[in-house]
Amino acid sequence: MLKNVLADKAIHSVTKFTTLDFPNHLAAIFWFAKCNMACPYCYNPQIVRGKGEISLASALEFLKSRKNRLDSVVLSGGECTLYPYLEAFCEMIKAEGFKIKIDTNGSNPTLLKRLIEKTLVDYIALDYKAPKERYTSITHHSHFDYFEESLMYLIEKQFPFEVRTTLHSDLLSENEINTIIQDLHVKNYTGTYYLQNYLHVNETLGVTKEQQNKFKMSELLPLIPIELRNF
Ligand code: SF4
Repeated sequence: MLKNVLADKAIHSVTKFTTLDFPNHLAAIFWFAKCNMACPYCYNPQIVRGKGEISLASALEFLKSRKNRLDSVVLSGGECTLYPYLEAFCEMIKAEGFKIKIDTNGSNPTLLKRLIEKTLVDYIALDYKAPKERYTSITHHSHFDYFEESLMYLIEKQFPFEVRTTLHSDLLSENEINTIIQDLHVKNYTGTYYLQNYLHVNETLGVTKEQQNKFKMSELLPLIPIELRNF
């Protein structure tokens, strides 16, 4: 079984080194192929639609060869929690002494809970894609309730994590971001809320144009700490 898992080419590509993605860590990023959402502004259509090309065994070998230079790995995608053997892979990574950050859209709360309960993950970045009323139109995924379950679990566990939203001002208004801020406030989220500005690239998953609307930061409710990225 383990041998079969190691042969799985679930990973689309590897970023060999980043200081930016996992706070206070030197990390590699493993980009898992496939996603269960279809956000129009997604920068990674080739990862979302493409097939994996790198086996877990190769990725693990790479990590082992970087033991003195890296202390952690980010499992991203696509949506890494779709991969059915992620738990086993995390166990292998942990056995080599690396910390793990997971980037997720929150659609697999069952797996997130198991990883946390087994101390197989150290930090999570959770995407809050849109308020409930806009969730399906933005993501083409109908289960806001799964995302909400992930969010509530992380808050209640007081697990180290961050909530973030990619902001395209033609897709989400100030009022809609305020709905997210209010929801996080009501749910007792005490971390920082990261608003990530959409930076236009030619190839996105849907048809995404440059932002036309001028987003007014001054209209955001000061209920929780907010940090801007890429503005
Ligand atoms: S931006 Fe949306 S479509 Fe792209 S990887 Fe993230 S959840 Fe999937």
